[in-house]
Amino acid sequence: MIYDLHSHSNVSDGGLTPEALVLRAREKGVTHLALTDHDTVDGLLSAQNAAQECGVHLINGIEFSTQWLGCGVHIVGLNIDPSNDCLKATVDLQMQTRVDRAFEIGQRLAKVGIVDAYEGAKKIASGVVGRPHFAQHLVSQGYVNSVNAAFKKYLGDGKAGDVPQRWVELPDIISAIVAAGGVAVLAHPGKYRFTRTKLKRLVTFFKESGGEAMEVISGKQTLNETNSFADIVEQYNMYASCGSDFHVPNQPWQELGAFSALPERCRPVWTTF
Ligand code: MN
Ligand code: MN
Ligand code: MN
Repeated sequence: MIYDLHSHSNVSDGGLTPEALVLRAREKGVTHLALTDHDTVDGLLSAQNAAQECGVHLINGIEFSTQWLGCGVHIVGLNIDPSNDCLKATVDLQMQTRVDRAFEIGQRLAKVGIVDAYEGAKKIASGVVGRPHFAQHLVSQGYVNSVNAAFKKYLGDGKAGDVPQRWVELPDIISAIVAAGGVAVLAHPGKYRFTRTKLKRLVTFFKESGGEAMEVISGKQTLNETNSFADIVEQYNMYASCGSDFHVPNQPWQELGAFSALPERCRPVWTTF
């Protein structure tokens, strides 16, 4: 059995439809797949239907963005009930933070002489407006020559349109996952580039807030990393999760099912499902 408990479809920033994702997981030998799109559960129904047809076990999931001490942190919810009211309200709040931020970027750009940027970006975006849409708008209006230049001059760190996201706070994210019958998993701890001391502070806060698991394995990683995260999970008496964080094909470091097994000493998170 291969459990891959972290993956994305084109319902968020992945490249495959939920159906195509499930089929690819099966091709890659994954028996248990969690679809964990960013701040949305909209792909789960299609994924469930496809999974039932091809014999993959689909676990309902989500990956929430939040922040801790000013750093972006991701929390995966596994085995959630997507119809739970508290979960749905939290998903709506996350969406609202994206909309609010886009609106504020527009206001800030207006202050440096770029009028109607929000309206322009909105015309380009098919869903919620993000910085790439502002960048495309700035290019199309001749303010800059390229998307890169748009970030350098207007949208990147410290520039006029650099507005931080204010996600739902970490304890509220975990409460929503737990209310929906799920288990909260601290995603890809290696990605934050924290010192070990800082990571342990985050883990302490995460546990105090009701989090129970951490990804010991996130895609291809070194044995050293695996062992160091397994140590933390053991020390803090948490469950261990593993997943590819698959987004698009042809990125072998995060291919579906393509990672090493959890160390024997870990208690797999799926024993709680
Ligand atoms: Mn992503
Ligand atoms: Mn993530
Ligand atoms: Mn992810």
